[in-house]
Amino acid sequence: MHARWTSDPCYAFFGVDGTECSFLIYLSEVEWFCPPMPWRNQTAVFPPPKSLPKGQILIHIGFLTEESGDVFSPRVLKGGPLGEMVQWADILAVLFILGHNLKITVSLKELQSNLGVPPGRGNCPLTVPLPFDLIYTDYHGLQQMKQHMGLSFKKYRCRFRVIDTFGTEPAYNHEEYATLHGYRTNWGYWNFNPKQFMTMFPHTPDNSFMGFVSEELNSTEKQFIKNNKDSNMAVVYGKEASIWKLQGKEKFLRILNKYMEIHGTVYYETQRPPEVPAFVKNHGLLPQQEFQQLLRKAKLFIGFGFPYEGPAPLEAIANGCVFLQSRFSPPHSSLNHEFFRGKPTSREVFSQHPYAENFIGKPHVWTVDYNNSEEFEAAIKAIMRIQVDPYLPYEYTCEGMLERIYAYIQHQDFCITTESSPLVASPQPARALSALAPNAPHLVWPHNASLGSEAWPPVHSFQGWLAETGRTCTDACLDRGLICEPSFFFFLNTQDAFLKLNVSCDRTESEMNHLYPAFAQLGRECYLQKEPILYSCAGSNTKYHRLCPCRDFQKGQVALCQDCL
Ligand code: UDP
Repeated sequence: MHARWTSDPCYAFFGVDGTECSFLIYLSEVEWFCPPMPWRNQTAVFPPPKSLPKGQILIHIGFLTEESGDVFSPRVLKGGPLGEMVQWADILAVLFILGHNLKITVSLKELQSNLGVPPGRGNCPLTVPLPFDLIYTDYHGLQQMKQHMGLSFKKYRCRFRVIDTFGTEPAYNHEEYATLHGYRTNWGYWNFNPKQFMTMFPHTPDNSFMGFVSEELNSTEKQFIKNNKDSNMAVVYGKEASIWKLQGKEKFLRILNKYMEIHGTVYYETQRPPEVPAFVKNHGLLPQQEFQQLLRKAKLFIGFGFPYEGPAPLEAIANGCVFLQSRFSPPHSSLNHEFFRGKPTSREVFSQHPYAENFIGKPHVWTVDYNNSEEFEAAIKAIMRIQVDPYLPYEYTCEGMLERIYAYIQHQDFCITTESSPLVASPQPARALSALAPNAPHLVWPHNASLGSEAWPPVHSFQGWLAETGRTCTDACLDRGLICEPSFFFFLNTQDAFLKLNVSCDRTESEMNHLYPAFAQLGRECYLQKEPILYSCAGSNTKYHRLCPCRDFQKGQVALCQDCL
């Protein structure tokens, strides 16, 4: 399975291949071409088809609707962003292969007819039974559904899954808290369970990591690529001419050009874009397969700071390139960078592609200070001397994405207090924890405990830690080779948990604060969390030691704990 796109002007995006199954997403409608046996080529692939519950799933791609202004489609063939298209195509393919019945809508009219909302009645106080077990949409789609579903929107809110590239942190999601504390943005405050937001990369563990698929090569292809690499060839990351205008870029291109022939895939209509220097061989925007061919020959894929966190660097690394990118100092965030301004996250981005830097790293990924031309030049020389194998993290393979989405559909249930989701296999975490490991510097779930035996993630993957002041729970868990798991905050939000972590409180208060539970050394005050949807792995303050719930994870599949399958 792999998302592809074509330059055929009659449609914006071509979906998926490899399973003999494909989707065409036209600018105005979706058509689906698929043989009736989706498992035919999937014999060895997880999971066995017979165990699958078959769900009715609505996929409403809001950003492609005319009503949302559809700024995307006109730019698709002109170097505009394609990452979201890649991800949607893969989501469609995965859900289909997992055996679900899909309805795909890209207009308001189709949406209304599928929801069974009578035209013009969207705002009436009316609850219409929802014919879908799950709805995958984006922020635009969510807004449209809120307007057109009447009271059903509230009733069935737990069935939504929001595809949200950069993520939504809990502080921005909680309406009252966001309003009171300056976290209000154009996107946030839906009061969802933060795990209902699904991201492109594993940003904050508060959200679910959805991801996408990049093409995986077999060993013959890998060997062929290695034998045919041109060690003097570099491809620049960026298909829109505007990114070539970034200050100081020409200087670095000249340094690079001392050692390598530079190729670009920058969109143009008739004339060569003036932003691209004459010594760069520009191919124009390529159909994806030709782009992949270029990557197969190239030694280096080089980023100049924008776009942030797209699929192309993973594709380049999977095709045996080294990815060279700039370190950001100070880091980019919604506080100091236009691109992130108004996004419901306070995440600090330390390089163009933090996932490549932190989850892949050397020898495939080199992150250097582009303000220092010596460091830049030394990196290029070093890269020319090394040989790297094509590499793709498991979570971005076809099987990895199938496995992850299968687990989510089987186990994630956000309908505990309202309608239960018919797709979920077992109930969610137990409601109480009384016995914690005695005299331990951190907390673990006792293996003989009967409570929570059916919870997901399983409670025995839980470890509770006291973070250093100023540290987020995301980082405090990573420091220990673990991942923050917000569904376990519940276990730490008790006076007993403070005691077991050797924290003695002079006073304990319960308040709404996305950093709680936490301990303030000054005054020896302990703070409990009053609002469960504010539990947050993200966020820190030098005043607090946060209490952090961590869990183990599978190598190459950070979304899943060791026993999560
Ligand atoms: N791509 C392409 N032709 C090109 C350059 C890129 O088909 O000339 C594809 C690339 O293979 C990737 C997609 O565009 O799958 C999106 O890549 P990028 O990382 O640039 O993300 P974006 O910024 O577009 O979201």
